[in-house]
This record gives sequence, C-alpha cells and structure tokens, in this order.
Amino acid sequence: MDIMVLNGDGIGPEIMDAGTKILKKLNDNFGVNINPVKYDIGARSLDQGKYKIENILEEARKYRAILKAPMGDPKLRNTGGTEIALDLILALRFDLDLYANVRPVRLLPGVSSPLIGYKSMDSINYTIIRENSEGLYSSHFGGLVLRDEVAIDNQTITRKGTERIAKFAFDLALKTEGAPKNGERSVVCTDKSNVLKSFAFFRKIFSEVSLEYKQIKPRYMYADAMAQYMILNPEELNVIVTENMFGDVLSDLGASTVGGLGFAYSANVSDSMGMFEPVHGSAPDIAGRNIANPTAMIMSTAMMLDWLGYPEYRKTIEKALFKTIEIGVKTTDMGGNASTSFFTENILNNMDQ
Ligand code: ATP
Repeated sequence: MDIMVLNGDGIGPEIMDAGTKILKKLNDNFGVNINPVKYDIGARSLDQGKYKIENILEEARKYRAILKAPMGDPKLRNTGGTEIALDLILALRFDLDLYANVRPVRLLPGVSSPLIGYKSMDSINYTIIRENSEGLYSSHFGGLVLRDEVAIDNQTITRKGTERIAKFAFDLALKTEGAPKNGERSVVCTDKSNVLKSFAFFRKIFSEVSLEYKQIKPRYMYADAMAQYMILNPEELNVIVTENMFGDVLSDLGASTVGGLGFAYSANVSDSMGMFEPVHGSAPDIAGRNIANPTAMIMSTAMMLDWLGYPEYRKTIEKALFKTIEIGVKTTDMGGNASTSFFTENILNNMDQ
C-alpha cells in the first residue's frame, strides 16, 4: 500500500525520517508492505511556488493515508499576517473533510508529568476529539478586515458537523477502558454554551446524540472549567469532544501534562481517509540540530497503522518505544541527551527483540 508522506518544515524532515525508518523496519521484519511516497511539501516549497495547494489536494485524494510532519515557518506569511503553511494545513483538513481530529493525552512509561501524583503509565489517559471541519477556524478562508479598523471572523456550527463528531466521540469511548480513576466511560461536551448561541446549539445536538449511547455517560463542561479540570482531575477523563479552536488550545495544555509537545500525536480522519501527524509545530528554534523528540511522529505512525487495520504493529512500535524510554534513552526535552537519530536507532533495535 502506498501512503503519502509530507516532509514539512523545521524539524519535520528530521522526525519524519524516524517515522519512515520505523515503517521500513516493519516491512523488513514482518513484510507489512507499506510504501511511503515522499513529497517535499511545506511552507518553504509553497512559498517558492514548487507546489500549488489544489495540486497537493488532488494528489492527496489518491491515497487512503497521509503521514504528515509539522509544517510552518513563522517568517513566511500571507499579506494579512496569517502563516502560509496554515493555508495548506487547513485545506487538507477542510477540503478532504477530515472532520475528526483525535488527540490522545496519555502518560507514557518513563515520562514524568509536571502534575504531582501522576507517575505510572496511563495514570493520565484520555482523548480529545476536536471538531476539525468547522468552528471558528472555518473562518480562515473568509474573515474580514475593513479599513484597518474592523476585523471579523465567524464561527460555524452545523447540525451535521456536530452530530458526526459527537457520534465519533461516543463510538471511540465504547472502545476504551474508561477513565483511569474508575473505568467510567464518558464523553465530556466542552463548550461555552453559557455565552454563545452557537455553542448552546452544539451542546443540544450532543445531548440528542448521547441518547443513542446508553453505555456511555454524557458529561458537560465549559471550556474554561475544562482547562482547570485537565490539571486537577485528569484521571477522571475518558473522552472530550469540543469545537475546533478549543480543541487546538486544550490539546496543547493536555500535552504539557504528559511530558510536553514531543508526546502529542494525532489523527485527522474522515470516514474513508486519514492524515496522521504530531500536534506540535515545526519548532524552528531547534531545527537542523538533531535534538528533536520524534515520539509524537512515531506514535502518529503507530496510530496510522492501527487505523489501516494493523493494531498489532501499533503494539510492536509502542513496545519498542516504551522500552527505549524506560532504559533511559531520552531526548533533551525529556531531560536526557540522546539525539533524534540515536533515540530512533534504539527503537529500531528494540523492534528486533
Ligand atoms: P505551531 O503554531 O505551528 O503549532 P508552536 O508555536 O506551537 O507551533 P512549536 O513549533 O510546536 O510551536 O514549538 C513550541 C516549543 O516546543 C518550542 O520551544 C519547540 O522547540 C518545542 N518543541 C516542539 N516540538 C518539539 C519536539 N518534537 N521535540 C522537542 N521540542 C519540541
């Protein structure tokens, strides 16, 4: 099977190297037969006119799965100030209708949480489902700045969009073992329905959908309260479903509770296609130095394999990765001194055992 590989910018190519080496190892050891087709696509190649967004989308539609490295260069911006890379990233999500952004927040073995009392693996283990095709960010391609005086962005919440994301969240909860504290399977609708009509509508639709899932407890929380809850009671969380921008912000907060952005991996899926990528950005401050943590890229690769129907290879990757961290091979963000390539080599070796 061919999969599309987007190399990205900054640390993108360095960590993608880890992802594709893992795939090659699976091919060599188990004959998985997944062929990464690499594209040097990111903010820089867009800026240099090497690719047009519509051509990239056309190419992307040929694949069932895309493995994407972080893209972006803060220096490369549109006239209005927005980043060029965001045009592509949002086009991929919106135009391919990858409506569910799945962002696990999971404490891995050997990784320390800044939260006191959370030490063992999976003592924090929940998933943020971020609606990925509407919300406030759908205004990216619209929006208005008038006479350098007025700026307007609109939020879009639809019945169809909310129904499908709520269903996605409940279906996911059915497959989980529940919250680490008590095994309770729940979905928390996270919004600001006390302030905006659009969020009250989101909550209403969520509540309607919840009636179809008797085994899962529906819960409700305002986004600001959720920010606090994720710090004080993360062990009580199972699945969170939320609007696009809230999901973006809350998932960075979640990542910081489980070791930082280097551990934040994600999937963007429709009913027929998936794009798998780290949550973090291109980290220009550490690019080219072989010190980035490739864990999020590697876990995104594992998620892709699971989604493609190979859950056993997700486990193979996780086992080798966890072992690497547990024996003390750690990148600088984890408090170690392993380079990106040394860390990756260790994982590859552990996949032989
Ligand atoms: P974006 O807006 O594109 O998501 P950002 O502003 O959130 O980007 P990042 O590029 O994600 O910024 O980087 C934020 C910080 O986290 C930087 O200091 C960066 O070096 C660090 N960082 C991000 N990813 C990693 C990683 N994989 N390994 C180590 N450090 C990382």
